[in-house]
Amino acid sequence: MSRNGAARQEGQIVLSDNTESGRHLIRRLGGAVTQSRTAFFVNLDKPIQPPGFDDVLTVRAAIQIVQGACRQEDWAKLRAWLSQPVLPGLLLLSVPGVDGRILIGMQFDDVPVSARKKAARGFRPEKVHAWRELQYSPDQPVAKVGFDRYDSQFLISRGGATRVFRDKTVAIVGCGAVGSHTAERIASIGVGHLHLVDSELLEAGNLYRHVLGMRDIGAPKADGLRTLLTSRYPGLEVQARFTDVIELMHSEEDFLLKADVLVFALGDETLELRINEMLGRKVPRLHTWVDPLSLGGHVHVTGLAREGGCLRCLFHRLDGVGLTNRASFAEAGQSFQQTIAGCSGVYTPFSALDADRTAIEVARLTGRILSGKEIVDSLVSWFGDPEDFSAKGYRLSKRTHLFQPGECKSAPAADSECPHCAQWRS
Ligand SMILES: [Zn+2]
Repeated sequence: MSRNGAARQEGQIVLSDNTESGRHLIRRLGGAVTQSRTAFFVNLDKPIQPPGFDDVLTVRAAIQIVQGACRQEDWAKLRAWLSQPVLPGLLLLSVPGVDGRILIGMQFDDVPVSARKKAARGFRPEKVHAWRELQYSPDQPVAKVGFDRYDSQFLISRGGATRVFRDKTVAIVGCGAVGSHTAERIASIGVGHLHLVDSELLEAGNLYRHVLGMRDIGAPKADGLRTLLTSRYPGLEVQARFTDVIELMHSEEDFLLKADVLVFALGDETLELRINEMLGRKVPRLHTWVDPLSLGGHVHVTGLAREGGCLRCLFHRLDGVGLTNRASFAEAGQSFQQTIAGCSGVYTPFSALDADRTAIEVARLTGRILSGKEIVDSLVSWFGDPEDFSAKGYRLSKRTHLFQPGECKSAPAADSECPHCAQWRS
């Protein structure tokens, strides 16, 4: 492959199961295919004694090592491959090691002209096969080839993530500050497929709390995230929809419902309550949001247990205020929207750290749901430092008495009076 503008990457070789997956990886690495040919992969049965660092490995020794350590049928296949004009040819060996299998690459170079002439006697030049040529040059060195592995089977385990999530799909609805950090964190635990939904374009005002940067200003947030995350995680597939979630639920419901877990990070309680009503107990999902001014963050897990709670369970109707969220660390009835002088937009003050801290909880709970460890609906909240919040004259909710600053706790969240749950139970 060659890579635009990066001469040091010229001439890199990418090995893959087939041409299509090789091209896919090269595109993700930002390169282009300059030529392709076949290499040969052998699973060795027995460990081999690798030659010392300074030892020269000859063709004869390399062939002896491989023949002695692989099964007969694999040896026959390798001989068949070498019975073609495949030089220079790359042989990839998978060798049993102490902690799983190790990959070793061997490059069999073209033989010298004199050896090629001897090998070609009685043959047409294009018909001279590698095995015959190598027999005439048994002492030429075989180059040991070092390489980086990009296969997700290796990388996911290497990065401390979990391979069992490779076939799982998580849909994230809302790719703002909390949603973008959530997508990043969920990708990092090894989830193989993300479905992203968002109806907004990235604006300059988003920069310090969104994972996307200046290059993405003006682009749909979901598309920008797809580009960022697929360039970061080789095994990840991302689909993005630049659309309103309610429209999507009418036009392409499966984009959400076929996911193993749904995450809603819309920052809009009214909309999420409406979705809660539409989805009922159909699919495991998490609703997540942050309180203003680093006061805390919440993740509500629902759709797991038949007798569990729904998002509506968290809300009580309060005289003069309307529906209020019981999980909040801020007393109901206060407004936190701020404007900056000269700027027309209003925003709720919270930071990237608040978004990311909440996203970490979302990813942890998503992992637990995907591996079957999380089986009851619950509310997980972390309480931050109330100092700034109180200093600005805002009032804390009674719930804060249950928490120490910095504490993260899980609580049951079902409400026996909830109108939605009553309807689903019957
Ligand atoms: Zn409910």
